[in-house]
Amino acid sequence: MILSSARRATTFAGLAIIMTGSLTAFSALVDEWKSGLDWPEPVVVDPGPVGGPPSDAIVLFDGTDLSQWKGGENWTLEDGYGICGGTITSKQAFGDCQLHVEFASPSEVESSGQGRGNSGIYLMGRYELQILDSYENGTYFDGQCGSIYKQRPPMVNACRPPGEWQTYDIIFKGPRFGEDGALTSPATITVLQNGVLIQDHFELQGGTSYYRPPEYTAHGPRAPLSIQYHNDAVRFRNIWIRDLMPESGDGTARMQE
Ligand code: MG
Repeated sequence: MILSSARRATTFAGLAIIMTGSLTAFSALVDEWKSGLDWPEPVVVDPGPVGGPPSDAIVLFDGTDLSQWKGGENWTLEDGYGICGGTITSKQAFGDCQLHVEFASPSEVESSGQGRGNSGIYLMGRYELQILDSYENGTYFDGQCGSIYKQRPPMVNACRPPGEWQTYDIIFKGPRFGEDGALTSPATITVLQNGVLIQDHFELQGGTSYYRPPEYTAHGPRAPLSIQYHNDAVRFRNIWIRDLMPESGDGTARMQE
């Protein structure tokens, strides 16, 4: 049956009224189920402008100040961004976190493969989320932009063209080790690039390396974060992190499983 648009609208509105009425009547007849769990009230966070930083984030780089990093003297600060000229390492140590990074590959394409816009986010200084100009630039898939280096390609290639600003939104959980140093749970990572899901709770197989297979080596619950210098003038701005470790911060427990 084909309905006119006016008739369809009327029909859907009628259905909505009937359903709403039915639900109201239904809820009057039954007792509501509640979980009974004594949840703490979620802490209020001001999300800030689009792209953050939220009110509970630590701003690691606002485009003008690299004082949160070791090695920042090798970067060039320009109009609200920094140009990578050496690996930088955060002065603070982090484990489980939500991390936002904005980056842009050099506008001028001078090379190819791994030599084009290469950098990387080294979570806990060991686990690289690759940054590369992978816009119409072939390389091995588990080494392209958005890969967990040599472990997992991105689910899709969501790169913008060279020179354009891009975002990474990363949710990372560090690995856990027993007292004997044995791995008890692997690190996991979820990544959105430019709002597109590219890593979905991937379980890392260990540290990422150019020359050897991934392998875990026991380490503490926190370690500094690094941004790789790979001889390319990749630009960065607006880097902030939310510390998700339960024992951290102002004493307000975050809800975790
Ligand atoms: Mg890299």
